[in-house]
Amino acid sequence: MKELYGYIDRHAQEYIALLQKCCRQPSISAQNVGIREMAALLVEELSRLGTLPDVVETGGNPIIYAELPGKNAGRTISFYNHYDVQPVEPVEEWVSDPFGAEIRDGKLWARGATDNKGSLLSRLLAVKAYQEVYGQVPLNVKFIYEGEEEIGSPHLGEFADRFPQRLKTDGFAWEGGSRQVGGPLEICLGVKGLLYIELRCKTASGDLHSSNAAIVKNPAWRLVQALATMKDAQDNITIDGFMDAVREPSAYEMECLETLRFREDATKERMGLDGFINDLTGIPLLKKLYYMPTANIAGFKAGYIGQGAKTVEPGSAVVKMDLRLVPDQTPEDILPKVRAHLDRRGFADIEVVKLSGEPPFRADPECLFAKTVIKCAKPVYGIDPEVFVSSSGTTAMYQFCHRANLDAVMFGAGNEAANIHAPNENIILDDFVSAIKMAATVMEEFAKA
Ligand SMILES: [Zn+2]
Repeated sequence: MKELYGYIDRHAQEYIALLQKCCRQPSISAQNVGIREMAALLVEELSRLGTLPDVVETGGNPIIYAELPGKNAGRTISFYNHYDVQPVEPVEEWVSDPFGAEIRDGKLWARGATDNKGSLLSRLLAVKAYQEVYGQVPLNVKFIYEGEEEIGSPHLGEFADRFPQRLKTDGFAWEGGSRQVGGPLEICLGVKGLLYIELRCKTASGDLHSSNAAIVKNPAWRLVQALATMKDAQDNITIDGFMDAVREPSAYEMECLETLRFREDATKERMGLDGFINDLTGIPLLKKLYYMPTANIAGFKAGYIGQGAKTVEPGSAVVKMDLRLVPDQTPEDILPKVRAHLDRRGFADIEVVKLSGEPPFRADPECLFAKTVIKCAKPVYGIDPEVFVSSSGTTAMYQFCHRANLDAVMFGAGNEAANIHAPNENIILDDFVSAIKMAATVMEEFAKA
């Protein structure tokens, strides 16, 4: 691979320029901004590889599919990535334009730089570099680029149902991943699930003079009271039946935690924390982070929060909640439990609206693809990778992998301080180049394995 690594190094500026171009194209699925333009850009790049991309129309944003035949016709690798990004708000907290893709301090700063354009392009460019150095790719390659990952992949399942052949593969390189700055690559074999809901409460036709608070129910108080029944002060989730399906981690899963180099102090400093919840540290902290569900309040909207005093009683209030789920919880099971929990406590007036749902997924850590990816990290990064049985986050692995009985492994170009979903998202340019080498190495080794 020396020859290929040298080639990638010599072409790094060209690769970075393409990343910059893609990051300058907004593609915000939640706001329907720039999606078609971004898809067109990727179709162009995939065409350059000699593929005939198929832009699959769904009920929402298109899914781009392409494939390339390889030297080893009996082995296939698939790259699943997404070309949509999160909204940029609050825009005033960005140091530079979220779609300016400014380069400073060895990083490229842009919404989508890490999540997910950096990892997407690292794989596409690995194929390109491999073709330019060796001709044909070493194994069959499939590309699946989704445009709705950041809004919960509502049409990925539909794609999987329509095109079972396109799902067939020997290994799914899933979305992306990250590494500690200058540290080991993080390889991840699973994800938490996610149930995203809104709790809505309306008590009057509109906002009222706050003197009416004496006789009119306040919807914000209703929500606060309802929320207070869903979690206790020790951070235990107290929604009736919520924890029933949560299994204790296996011995292997606990063993994996022992190998992680989670830097508590650096993480606290980066996040601006005095400590973690319940002052957790060590293995209990990691167990909670990777193997336990969450019930997060993502946003709360009610009444007046402008400058100065306004004596108003809101007529309605909304809370957004994301609940991260772990095996064997499912959104289908949890949603009615939330409803029943509220009903039982006299909150039938609070509407529960599901915005998206995704079950958790874990690949088999013993599968050939996982073992191959794990083996490839050291030659590229010079250090053994960390292996995570489950990410603390979520992607739509279940929709593809569970139904087609596939194994998927996540690894990519991000870093622990990449600020994904937050202001000042970035990617370390050296990591981007390393990720291209990593994807190329995985193709080479998996073709032979
Ligand atoms: Zn994301």
